[in-house]
Amino acid sequence: MLLTVLGCSGSIPGPGAAASGYLLEADGFTLVLEFGNGVLSRFQEERPLFSMDALVLSHLHPDHCIDVSSLYVARKYHPTPPSGPLPVYAPAEAASRFAAAYAPDTAERESLDLTDVFTFHELGSTVHIGPFIVDSAVVAHPCEAYGFRISCGGVSLAYTGDSGPCAALDELADGVDVLLSEASWTHAPDRQPDLHLSGREAGELAARAGAGRLLITHVPPWTSRDEVLKEARFAFDGPCELVVQGGRYEVGETSK
Ligand SMILES: [Zn+2]
Ligand SMILES: [Zn+2]
Repeated sequence: MLLTVLGCSGSIPGPGAAASGYLLEADGFTLVLEFGNGVLSRFQEERPLFSMDALVLSHLHPDHCIDVSSLYVARKYHPTPPSGPLPVYAPAEAASRFAAAYAPDTAERESLDLTDVFTFHELGSTVHIGPFIVDSAVVAHPCEAYGFRISCGGVSLAYTGDSGPCAALDELADGVDVLLSEASWTHAPDRQPDLHLSGREAGELAARAGAGRLLITHVPPWTSRDEVLKEARFAFDGPCELVVQGGRYEVGETSK
């Protein structure tokens, strides 16, 4: 399983830096996880426009999904469009969310049907997507939001999405080869609960889970990447690094 980071800027895109977007590839199948600001542009730098086989979205905040509006335009109006709809695994309100994001007024929104371009599937159970087994669980964020454990060929990656510390994350991350964890801020006692992880909390999650490797993502442009990494490394003594846009990470036994 190969992870390629399309974008990893937390909460908003930064200068030359897309928000959340990850490419997971195995057995010739291309799964895109998250589709935030700038990710459609980045995807085309990495792969042909219509080469994705499925899209998985943790939640419907703009930095995780807003480029789906542009993907709709591409798949609907491109002179040589793809042959069938793209499967999208997302929270229950995804279709109405994307209709509202795309349509410029109420009349168009009410008449808009996205189903010729996308087929929507709800999250919350185990689904098989190409060669991947995707387990999802509700995490601690102020909207319907999921974390994931994605397995393929005997290796596994857990991804926190956006979440504060919670039991669901511990369960998803238990014993994974790679934990891709958000860390949106440095640790402080007055941080808003059930919203995000600090660098320290990401490290503690990896340590409790016995993860083989910790990859830190979703650091906002206003947060010190160095401080977040320092906190995570203090809490987790395994391999730990900040992901970078365009970075490629093999998920496998060698990552242990
Ligand atoms: Zn976010
Ligand atoms: Zn969020």
